[in-house]
Amino acid sequence: MELEKMGTLTASGYCGIVSHTSLKVRTGRSLSISRQEKPLTKRTHCCWLTRVFYRFLVAGFVLLIALLQFPSSASAASPDRYLVRLHFKDRSQLQTWVDNGLDVWEVHGTTALVSLGNGQRLALEAEGFSLSDVNLSARASFPACYRTYDDMLLFLHERESRYPQLLHSFDIGDSWEKQNGLADRDLYVVQLTNLENSQPKPKLFLVAEHHAREIITPEIAMDFIDDLLVNYGQDPTITWLLDNREIWVMPMANPDGYARAAQAEDWRKNANRSERCPDGSPPWSYGVDLNRNYGYQWGLDAGSSPEPCNLTYRGEAPFSEPETQAIRDLVRQQDFDILVSLHSYGRLVLYPWAHTWEPAPDAADLNALATRMAKAVGYIAEQSTGIGYMSSGDTTDWSYGELGIPSFTIEVGGGSFWPACSLKDQIYQELRPALIYAAMAADHPYEVAGGPDVRQIAVDVSEPRIAVRARISDQWTGGNAIEAAELFIETLGEPGTGIALSPSDGDCNTENEWMTTHLDDNVFMQYAGQRVPLFVVAQDATGTRGVPAIAWLDLREYMVPQSQEVTLWATDTGEPAFEIRGGYVYEGSAHNGHILMTVRDTRIYRGAGTLGELLYTLHGNQVQAGEAGPVIYTLRGNEIYDGPAANGHPIFRIENDRLTEVTGSTSEVVFTANVDLAGGTAGNAALLLPILADRRY
Ligand SMILES: [Zn+2]
Repeated sequence: MELEKMGTLTASGYCGIVSHTSLKVRTGRSLSISRQEKPLTKRTHCCWLTRVFYRFLVAGFVLLIALLQFPSSASAASPDRYLVRLHFKDRSQLQTWVDNGLDVWEVHGTTALVSLGNGQRLALEAEGFSLSDVNLSARASFPACYRTYDDMLLFLHERESRYPQLLHSFDIGDSWEKQNGLADRDLYVVQLTNLENSQPKPKLFLVAEHHAREIITPEIAMDFIDDLLVNYGQDPTITWLLDNREIWVMPMANPDGYARAAQAEDWRKNANRSERCPDGSPPWSYGVDLNRNYGYQWGLDAGSSPEPCNLTYRGEAPFSEPETQAIRDLVRQQDFDILVSLHSYGRLVLYPWAHTWEPAPDAADLNALATRMAKAVGYIAEQSTGIGYMSSGDTTDWSYGELGIPSFTIEVGGGSFWPACSLKDQIYQELRPALIYAAMAADHPYEVAGGPDVRQIAVDVSEPRIAVRARISDQWTGGNAIEAAELFIETLGEPGTGIALSPSDGDCNTENEWMTTHLDDNVFMQYAGQRVPLFVVAQDATGTRGVPAIAWLDLREYMVPQSQEVTLWATDTGEPAFEIRGGYVYEGSAHNGHILMTVRDTRIYRGAGTLGELLYTLHGNQVQAGEAGPVIYTLRGNEIYDGPAANGHPIFRIENDRLTEVTGSTSEVVFTANVDLAGGTAGNAALLLPILADRRY
């Protein structure tokens, strides 16, 4: 499947029209299709014009008599290939062309971009079709920046030795040519996860390159692997994903075919040559179309071909090929939670079914997940048949149909099977958010389907206050109003146990909201000197929660606050007069007080944080003004002196947690404290007391 669909067929599919078509297939048998098209989502957009158009199409089906018959492959022997635009009447005609082996690259409305050989061209022209030639600039090529099978092996082994805690590779089988002693290629898959975190984790499976010539897909798979490895410990989302997910990646499902593609051959299938096609030229040649060989609804003549030389030859039996057998066994064994199969090209996110126009039982949820992935990357989401024709025996129909795994075929960007080197990184970067989303959604895909996105998290730290603002949107996930959002620090908790965010405009009434929360100072004190993840999860008015977004709460630049906690109680009122907590000196209680000073190691700053004026420095038992100014207080024994003890006189006396002010010949108890003021961890606090007393009581 490598089609781009921009036309009206899919839009029409949302209208409740019944059509009956009968089409003749290549074998001469007649296949009757009865189709009831149902709305896939509640939000249908039927319009009068679409209905008229559809009636026109139905009339077209009735009139459709002459079906294209291709000559046998033997007579299509010319190696010359053409790229043409071809107008088709309806999807039934397109289906017939595809099933007969026409190499359809793109579909726009009712025009197909088709690659064909000389014999096919002559046959079409004999049928009266008008072909408009497109300059065949996109001849099969293998740009130098693309990695071969051997390059992939080196890549995987190098990464495995460099990141042994994050990546394990597995050889899950042999290619057809290896099984038959013709080459030495294995089928490799890698598991990416933080192995130190050994609890069971939800699993994503990303498989690429079922079709050999779709050479951008192994590159995307390998770029994804590198992205995860390099950004682990740097990017909060990727770090969390590798700690909490197993991401399995198979960069080359079809290494034999890829070896041909790497020779700049226009190769699609694997290299099974039990049946030979002596006169064919690629892609019309021997080999099995691996994406028609899976065992769910395998063998339908609409959507695959029984003819060995055909482009979509499905093989002798379901799972007849070693490549599909290996993937089948892996998928069954690993019990994946979500599956993505990469193809090129078309910028589409497709979901089952592919073998029928009928919607799948979970069509609404599959559509919601596909839509979310597609919208984030500028692709289009639709049922697999949205490309314009049916395909049977594909990967995703099997993994969804037999195992119930939410499964997606992504036709990536690039606009060609052989994108230039200059486009390679761009194609990956564009697709990246969809892959990340699939991994995030892997724990409960259907439950988060349609749940709102947290598009952005802004963390503003003004020591010790932290404000978190999140931009939340349901634009790509159903368009419902945002109902709630909550924040978790360090670990993602159960729903309803986080810190609630409030709408910045005071009201949750639209599909886009900024929501905010101000964190308690305790959060700063707890995490100062550290970097921990923050999670924001939002819920829309239907009660659906989306996937979390993750940002760092990065307080590494802040020194760890002092640990002692001292409360001074004013004896006349019985209220807390000052509290030293987490390195801050509050007036009143820390809970609702005003920060007078910040203590960091031996320095004391005015106000909150270390950007204020440096008021005092502690040197042993003395307090100096500023960095190294005159000594203004000294702690000696249980007395605090004004200036150096030698020439000063005590201004406070500390006895039994009571602080007594000494004024001339009289003395008065002014504070009681809840710690031993004279020593231990409260030593610094003891030195601070004169300052507090001097300035504030
Ligand atoms: Zn493909």
